[in-house]
Amino acid sequence: MKENKKSVLVISAHPDDEAFGCLGVLLKHSEAGDKINFQWFTGGRDEKQFEGMKKLANLLNAEYANENLADQELDALPIKKLISIAEAAVQKHKPDIVYTNFIGDLNKDHRLVSEAVMVACRPYRTITPKEVWMFEVPGTTELGIRPFVADKSVEINKADKENKMRLCYEQEMINGRESVQSFERFEKWPKLQ
Ligand SMILES: [Zn+2]
Repeated sequence: MKENKKSVLVISAHPDDEAFGCLGVLLKHSEAGDKINFQWFTGGRDEKQFEGMKKLANLLNAEYANENLADQELDALPIKKLISIAEAAVQKHKPDIVYTNFIGDLNKDHRLVSEAVMVACRPYRTITPKEVWMFEVPGTTELGIRPFVADKSVEINKADKENKMRLCYEQEMINGRESVQSFERFEKWPKLQ
């Protein structure tokens, strides 16, 4: 029975990237009994954002780790350090599937984390995920340096995703103009590349 369950690792720059980007897919993994782990690089914009993501991790029965690096300052660090964080997460969780930010995103943190993940998942190690997917974060991905063209689209339970988002990010939805705009575009998501 255990063989049917997958190990899913989500590596993202900021707490909430994956919530906006591929929560519908993660809910399906959770329902299927797959084990989900989150690896975040930064603490996010503020404590409230991080608290929201912790709530979401609990809902998904997921475990999480956060490097608590400075938000929007990942480019101040050597790429080698970012790669080592991604590599350690991959080696620890031995994922079948990895989800991460889009490599052509406007947000530099997103781009750097995605690049680090691609290096960490290159097929030379004994532990290499079978699948690596990039998700879009509305508000930054569509403004990116290269177009996000989805080559996989997953049917999701939109209402379930919205309810879970409201439960965890209600304050952010009300206060964040960018988040509200993003929230209105849920039906198009998640797209993966
Ligand atoms: Zn982000």
